[in-house]
Amino acid sequence: MLNIDLHCHSTVSDGLLAPAAVAARAKHNGVDVWALTDHDEVDGIVEARAAAKMLDLEFVAGLEISITWGGETVHIVGLQIDETNHALLEGLAATRNGRERRAHEMAAQLAAVGIPDAFQGALKFVGNPDLISRTHFARYIVELGVCPDIPGVFSKYLIEGKPGFVPHRWASLAQAVSWIHGAGGTAVMAHPGRYRFNDLQRDAILDEFIQLGGAAIEVITGSHTEAQYAIWAKIATQFGLRGSRGSDFHGPGESRVDLGALPPLPASVTPVWADWGL
Ligand code: AMP
Ligand code: MN
Ligand code: MN
Ligand code: MN
Repeated sequence: MLNIDLHCHSTVSDGLLAPAAVAARAKHNGVDVWALTDHDEVDGIVEARAAAKMLDLEFVAGLEISITWGGETVHIVGLQIDETNHALLEGLAATRNGRERRAHEMAAQLAAVGIPDAFQGALKFVGNPDLISRTHFARYIVELGVCPDIPGVFSKYLIEGKPGFVPHRWASLAQAVSWIHGAGGTAVMAHPGRYRFNDLQRDAILDEFIQLGGAAIEVITGSHTEAQYAIWAKIATQFGLRGSRGSDFHGPGESRVDLGALPPLPASVTPVWADWGL
């Protein structure tokens, strides 16, 4: 059985390794088919593809788009995209726009609770100035010794209701799916078990996603517990959606799950890659 990992990050967004280093780690971990899916940005794809080719690793061009749905931030992964597509690039530039302003507001709010200079501090961890994210703030706050680890920073400072959280309106679900489709790609809802939706809201977003032509949801992801693997496998089947598998690896020592290390997709689920000729 092929080891397929269709979700991870590089320094182009909030990962710790450069795209070529992520490729090398995927290969070393026994991954056969690998997608790089940086947040709201495709800049790492050329380097990732070249590195994968040298390593004889099957490469899938991808990304992870931030959207707002029902007041909640949701992530939509695009796979097998043409990263040069104009409408996609324009849409991503628009959705990245505003991250810097949000970061300045976050820094002001953090200063008010005793964490000064967080904008400059976070910036030290940023690989791509267009893509300052909460993860970069979290790394800085760990460095300060205020919290022992990244999840600790999120729960104390960076999630909704906490002092460093600044609400942000991302793209719409329809926009994200249309950018992915316009670039020839397949749309996959990332880590569906992570959103704070009740059953009605969950069904509504899945229905809308399907209406728009969304193809799959992540079933096996580093964000799901083992109990959630079974739950989301069942939901995928009920909704006629395919399933995907991806570690959501961000970096050594930081991510709970390494590249290629997750269990396989349950046999009951049709894989998103079923018709890729693998
Ligand atoms: P942003 O796009 O700036 O809102 O940052 C979102 C990123 O923060 C996600 O892609 C994750 O990498 C990270 N993240 C979000 N929530 C948590 C959490 N509870 N623990 C650790 N990392 C998180
Ligand atoms: Mn991330
Ligand atoms: Mn995500
Ligand atoms: Mn991710």
